[in-house]
Amino acid sequence: MKVYISTDMEGISGVVDRAQISPPGLDFKRGRLLHTEDANAAVRGALAAGATEVVVSGGHGGNGMRNIVDEQMHPAAWLITGDTRESTLQGLDASYAAVVLIGYHTRHGLSGVLDHTITARDVQEIRVQGRPIGEIGLHGLVAGAHGVAVVLVSGDDRLVAETRDWFPWAVPVVVKYAIGRHAARCMHPKRAQQSIEEDTARALGALDKMKPLDVGKPIVAELEFKRTAHADEAACLPGVARANDTTIRMRSDDPITIVNLIRMGIKLGATAQADAMR
Ligand SMILES: [Zn+2]
Repeated sequence: MKVYISTDMEGISGVVDRAQISPPGLDFKRGRLLHTEDANAAVRGALAAGATEVVVSGGHGGNGMRNIVDEQMHPAAWLITGDTRESTLQGLDASYAAVVLIGYHTRHGLSGVLDHTITARDVQEIRVQGRPIGEIGLHGLVAGAHGVAVVLVSGDDRLVAETRDWFPWAVPVVVKYAIGRHAARCMHPKRAQQSIEEDTARALGALDKMKPLDVGKPIVAELEFKRTAHADEAACLPGVARANDTTIRMRSDDPITIVNLIRMGIKLGATAQADAMR
């Protein structure tokens, strides 16, 4: 059994502030260690459930997506690191039995620790088939395109509803209770990691109940920016239409094409930012 673990940092146990997920500083060093240990807990759970190969894709933008402390990683796992890759599910294919999402966060506008959708600066809302979607749902679309189910999502308590919305079969793991965007009541990291380990093993023991995400065809997605200038730039992408002043729309039968168009749209839209305050 091959298991793919993708990580982010905003939903790691103990993390409540940008200082813990961005360089420089002592808090970032500690944040990287907490990130690594939450990932290790999922690796142990996967191995306990009988995984023969475990890949950890260390995510979170910034610091070149090198946010796992390599030498602290569980030695049984492979680590995918660095930022010239198409997604945080790089290399996922149908040979994997499951995707585990560790350390994720609510979409922009849904109260939770460090809520955002891909970039806090540029993106107001992304919708797929008319439903607002965050990063966990976008990962689910890519995994689903390969026929692989998301089986577990860890993060704060507010992420549970978003997890149920997209993956009613998956196990949500709560490692902290959000008080505000930059505050939470946190479980001790050791206790949070014990939950992640046990629940990962439990989720992988119930693969017969898990389903790859399928939103039907054709897939229609909308990317709503915070500023009109973002949409001016992103509407130039081939295969993309302007839906309204701040929104572009794309349509495809292929979930991976949709997610790639969204990612490219955000990158292109962000090029307007330098001039956005004129
Ligand atoms: Zn992140």
